[in-house]
Amino acid sequence: MEKDRYYKYSDYLKKHYGVRVYKLPVNLPITCPNRIGKPGCTFCSEKGTGFEAMPATVPIARQLEATREHIRGRYKAEKFIAYFQNYTNTYMPLSLFSQYMEEAANVDDVVEIAVSTRPDCVSDPYLDELARLSEKKGVGICIELGLQTANYHTLDRINRGHGLAEYMDAMGRVRSRGFSSCTHVILNLPGDRPRDCVETAKIVSVLGTTLVKIHSLYIAKDSPMAADYLAGKLDPGTKEDYFERLRLFLEYLSPDIGVERLFSRIPGPDSLFSNWGTSWRRLMDEFLSYLTAAGSYQGKCFDYTNGSALRGAF
Ligand code: SF4
Repeated sequence: MEKDRYYKYSDYLKKHYGVRVYKLPVNLPITCPNRIGKPGCTFCSEKGTGFEAMPATVPIARQLEATREHIRGRYKAEKFIAYFQNYTNTYMPLSLFSQYMEEAANVDDVVEIAVSTRPDCVSDPYLDELARLSEKKGVGICIELGLQTANYHTLDRINRGHGLAEYMDAMGRVRSRGFSSCTHVILNLPGDRPRDCVETAKIVSVLGTTLVKIHSLYIAKDSPMAADYLAGKLDPGTKEDYFERLRLFLEYLSPDIGVERLFSRIPGPDSLFSNWGTSWRRLMDEFLSYLTAAGSYQGKCFDYTNGSALRGAF
């Protein structure tokens, strides 16, 4: 791990599936309960988070097949993950959910269904339906959960509409079925300190998430945060501060957890602020140099489980 600095998602996929696997985002004509009669999370755009997918009006199979052919040609991918990314993909009647999931599982070369949702929208009947589909079609299941931070005071401040307990409950249900999981976090939410990044890494590690997707805070033009940002009341912090939070987060994260992303992605025209105006490639290079200079790597401080105070005490 020290050599690679962190456990990359591409390595996780190769280890898990043995071939090159890519995610294909799918958009559904759905919403999110946190946006019904409420403004939603303060960082959420009107478009949700599905910036990379085709319009929700396009049938699922057609979305997947079109993106699959594009990705296959460009990246030589062999197998694919149908990724229900935008809004809350379990917030619909169970029968409709089953129909959507089955449609995706029927597409050639789809080996996994990834369902992005909120921790308070994970329930047994929906998970049982996915277990049935997994058994019938031989596809893997990954549940992607937005946690963002373990600091429930911050969760209240950003209008998440759930706390830490809902995440813990959802993780238990997901793990009991043998599904994999991916937890989404934002490391520089307003009000959160570096100590919160440490605690978030510890919580997701001990609860056994399979993967994490790490985001830097962006300010979408049509998000509730935009007004505060424009009024000078919201500061996403400096790039150096983010690097330090990311370093801490990775050091406390279990080395067995795959890391899907270190920075956010949002199209330029949709954002007021994103990644300190630095390109994705350059940020990666700068951050890896930062880790190397600090002698840092994922799991360096993963020594806090299983009665750590007893170790070597007697
Ligand atoms: S849970 Fe997701 S879709 Fe819903 S308001 Fe928050 S960020 Fe937006």
